[in-house]
Amino acid sequence: MKQSQLFSKSSKKLSEAEASKNAQFLIRGGFIDKSSAGVYTLLPMGLRVLEKINAIIREEINAIGGQELLMPTLIQKKYWEKAGRWDVDVIFKTSSSITKEDKQDFEYGLGWTHEEVITAIATRFINSYKDLPKSVYQIQTKFRAEARPQGGLLRGREFSMKDLYSFHESKKDLNEYYEKVIDAYHKIFKRLSLKALLTETGGGAFTTERTHEFQVLNPAGEDTVFYCSKCNFCQNQEIYDPKEHKNCNGQIESARAIEVGNVFRLGTKFSEAYSLNFLNKQGERKPVIMGSYGIGPTRVLGTIAEVFNDEYGLIWPDAVAPFNVHLIGLTGKNSEKIEKAAESLYEKLISLGIEVLYDNRDLSAGEKLNDADLIGIPNRVVISEKTLSKNKLEIKKRNEKGSKLVDEKELLAMLKK
Ligand code: ATP
Ligand code: MG
Repeated sequence: MKQSQLFSKSSKKLSEAEASKNAQFLIRGGFIDKSSAGVYTLLPMGLRVLEKINAIIREEINAIGGQELLMPTLIQKKYWEKAGRWDVDVIFKTSSSITKEDKQDFEYGLGWTHEEVITAIATRFINSYKDLPKSVYQIQTKFRAEARPQGGLLRGREFSMKDLYSFHESKKDLNEYYEKVIDAYHKIFKRLSLKALLTETGGGAFTTERTHEFQVLNPAGEDTVFYCSKCNFCQNQEIYDPKEHKNCNGQIESARAIEVGNVFRLGTKFSEAYSLNFLNKQGERKPVIMGSYGIGPTRVLGTIAEVFNDEYGLIWPDAVAPFNVHLIGLTGKNSEKIEKAAESLYEKLISLGIEVLYDNRDLSAGEKLNDADLIGIPNRVVISEKTLSKNKLEIKKRNEKGSKLVDEKELLAMLKK
C-alpha cells in the first residue's frame, strides 16, 4: 500500500474527548474514527489488525471443532421474552414508531448476546444423544446500551464479539469441552502476544458454579484481580478469598485488569426455556447441557494498543501488525534516484508476499519518521541519500532502539524470519 493513497492520515492532535491511550493512538494513527460515545469506525488499517486477530481466533476455535455460522442481529422480542431477557438494561430496542398493523413484527432487540437464538436453532437439529456434542460460533457486531462507554475500544456500545456455544449430553462432557476452550484461549492470547491470566469468577445470573475470565493486567482495566506471583492462582475481586490460595507460599498481588474473554457453563437455563431436549441412551428425554464462551476482538485490539506503546506511538506485535514493513523513502536532493530505489524495493517486497506500507509522500524526514513511530509497524526500512551512497538500507525495529545498515539480501533474510 502506498501511503499517499491510504484513506486515513495520521494526526498530531490529541482528541479531547478521549481519556484512554488506546483511543488516542488509534485515532491519531488512523486506525479508528469515533462516531459517537462507544461507537467507532474501523478504518482500513484498523480493520487489517482486527482481521488478523479474527483469523487467529478462527484457527484456534476451528481446531477444537467449532463450526462458524452467522446469526441475525435483529432479534424479535419473542426470543428475548422466552428466557426473560427483554427487559434488561443493555438491550437496544428498535423504535416502535412503525404504524403498520403488524407492529409486533417490528419489535426487535439488537443482538447483545445470542444464547436465545442459537438455542432456538439447535432445537431443529438436536434430538438425540447421537446429535451431541456440537459447537458453533460466530464473529459479529454486538450492541449494548452500556451506561458508561469508556476506554476507547475497551467498552463500546457497538463492538465485535466471538461467541461460541456448545451442546452436551452430560456435565462431564461439558466440563471436558470447557477445558478445551480454555486451552484454545491460552493459545489465542499467546499468539496475540497478550499475557492473559485465567481468572476465577462468579457465575452471575446463570450459575452458582465458578466461571473463568481471561484477564490482561493493565491500569486501563475496569476489573481488579488478585493473583499469585508464583502459582496460577488468580481470582476476580468479586469472589476473592485468600483461604483458597493453598499449597503455595507465593505472595498475592492485586492489580487492575482488562477482561478479554470468558468461558461459561450455562447448564440448562436456555435449553429448558426453549425445550431443547434430547433422548439419552436409556430413551429418557433430558435438557441439553450448554456452555457459552466469549472473546471481544475489538476489545482485544484496544488492549493490544493499550499494552504495546511508548510515548511516540503504537508498537504492534508481528502477528497482528497492519503491515510488516514501513518503507520510507527520504527524498532529499537526489530525490529521483531515491524514489526509484524505494519503488523497486517496494515491488520486490510485495512480490515476496511481505505486507508493506510505503511512505512515498512528499513530506519532511521528521514528519515521516514521527508518523512511522505513531503507526507502529514492526520494521521500519529507510532509503536515503546516505544509505544509497553505501548501497545499503537502514532497518529499525519499532520495539528496539538502534537501527542497522544492511544490504538488500540481509534485509530480506531478516524479514523472512
Ligand atoms: P464486562 O464484564 O466487561 O462487561 P461481560 O461479562 O459483559 O464483560 P460478555 O457478555 O460475556 O462480557 O462478553 C464476552 C466478551 O465480549 C468479553 O469478554 C469482552 O471481551 C467483550 N465485551 C463485552 N462487553 C464489551 C463492550 N461493551 N465493549 C467491548 N467488548 C466487550
Ligand atoms: Mg458487560
